[in-house]
Amino acid sequence: MEIEVQLTHELIAEKIPPPNSIGAHGAWLEFRGVVRAEENGRAISALEYEAYPEMAEREIRRILKSLSVRHPCLAAKIVHRVGVIPVGETAIYAGIASSHRGEAIALLAEFMNLLKQDVPIWKVRALPPSSITQPESSGTEKRQPSQAAEKLKSGALSFDEAFAKIRSASQPLPALRAPLAEAFGRVLRETVRAVEDFPAYDRSTRDGYAILQNDSSETFQIVDTLHAADWKPRQLKTGEAVRVATGSALPCEKLRVVMQENVERIGDTIKIIRLENAANVRRRGEEMRAGQTVLQPGTVLNAGTLALLATVGCAQPLVSPRLRIVHFTTGDEVVPPDQVPRPGEIRDSNSILVRGLLQKFPCDIIQNHLREDFSSAKSRAEMLKAEIESADVLLISGGASVGEKDFTRDLLAHLGFQIVFDRLNIRPGAPLIFGVNGPRVAFGLPGNPVSHFVCFHLFVAAALRGLVGAESENFLRGPLASGLEDQPNPRETFTPARLDPAGLHPLKWTSSGDVTCLVETNALIRVPANCGSIEAGDEVEFLPT
Ligand code: AMP
Ligand code: MG
Repeated sequence: MEIEVQLTHELIAEKIPPPNSIGAHGAWLEFRGVVRAEENGRAISALEYEAYPEMAEREIRRILKSLSVRHPCLAAKIVHRVGVIPVGETAIYAGIASSHRGEAIALLAEFMNLLKQDVPIWKVRALPPSSITQPESSGTEKRQPSQAAEKLKSGALSFDEAFAKIRSASQPLPALRAPLAEAFGRVLRETVRAVEDFPAYDRSTRDGYAILQNDSSETFQIVDTLHAADWKPRQLKTGEAVRVATGSALPCEKLRVVMQENVERIGDTIKIIRLENAANVRRRGEEMRAGQTVLQPGTVLNAGTLALLATVGCAQPLVSPRLRIVHFTTGDEVVPPDQVPRPGEIRDSNSILVRGLLQKFPCDIIQNHLREDFSSAKSRAEMLKAEIESADVLLISGGASVGEKDFTRDLLAHLGFQIVFDRLNIRPGAPLIFGVNGPRVAFGLPGNPVSHFVCFHLFVAAALRGLVGAESENFLRGPLASGLEDQPNPRETFTPARLDPAGLHPLKWTSSGDVTCLVETNALIRVPANCGSIEAGDEVEFLPT
């Protein structure tokens, strides 16, 4: 496919012809994105765009090339304007030539989504009415590329910076006591000590006969029989044996148990027919001593730790509360999974994705959908005011970017959240919004499923762990089992991967909307900025998911 890309500060021409070189084509599909007079319900006079031009051009070419594999087209001409663009003027022009209109339409539709997601061109601000008496559009304003690059670095936070802000904002919520049956997955918030020795007495680990440790008698007289629950202390003498069951409390200390398979019993006497080295006794305090710490605060309670709590009699441990989470999806194109989407619509995969990702965190979730219109979103939020106000975490899927209808930032502000950041220098997931309102936190997650998944594991999980009082998950190091091919990118990248005993296999994802790759993903590889391809065998940092 012939590709032409241009970033310009100039007015985009009224007429742009298809390239002459492509000769006969069935369709020349043209699209113009024009600056509207309104942004999130407010009147504006212009939008200001900035770009990292070389990278943007490279990324646009890469996207077009990869899309043309599925939607073969003849040529594409993309012109994106940057700087201040007054209302009514074109911000982006795309012309696609193809043999049949279907291919051009499909390619254009996907391209526009990816452009917003992956290309470093962004809206810096919306200018209020009357703020541009003299439009800066007619070639007078010529920003240097280095300024745009500087903006990218200074405006957008790095992963580490964003992570640190999230962790410091997400402080442990007050703990409470919960019965063991309701404590799975919660975080222990107290030090738990053994109140007695465990075992509390010497116990047999076999069905057999207890005798004195150093007794070398030929035969033994059976003087008593003990079942598992019996407690009959007595001192044994040389030549005496007590019949015991597995788990029986032994009648005194300094005994050993001979397995019943290794004795010959005649009436009330036994003879040892095979000598054993093992004493077959769990000694008092062997596992825990009274007063000893058995669990530290911050421990995530799993089946094993709950069994230990039960063992030491801690039946109502002090634990983190169940989190209350409100999750909104946004986007008028989003329909429930049981509906057949009409052209332009897409099934909602994020609701169930978020629900699944939250499984690890004991929580109560309220999910709802917001229409893509600020005033209707506000009134829906009003209706759910009580739920939102009592939620520990508010998640909003989609609408986090800078499109005309992306209102998440404004909605969070309207709900009293202070926006801590709204742009990251990472891939995918650049348009992530994070806000705080007292102890409560909110995220505006980019709507694409891969960005969603990545942002959840990198950031939302860190906040949730902070709120429940758990340590955050650490990145690990491991070898790549297969090579990772990528162009050097100024943004740090988190690539979905499959981790198996051979190492990490980077997974192919052609776009952030690529839900297919999530099927196999169980790790995210952290690719440093400007790194490019990494060879098989090289060590990388990764986060298990
Ligand atoms: P947004 O972040 O709102 O710009 O959305 C980015 C992309 O994610 C768009 O292609 C949306 O159609 C898609 N998207 C948004 N919400 C959902 C959802 N709930 N399920 C699946 N895809 C979604
Ligand atoms: Mg949207």
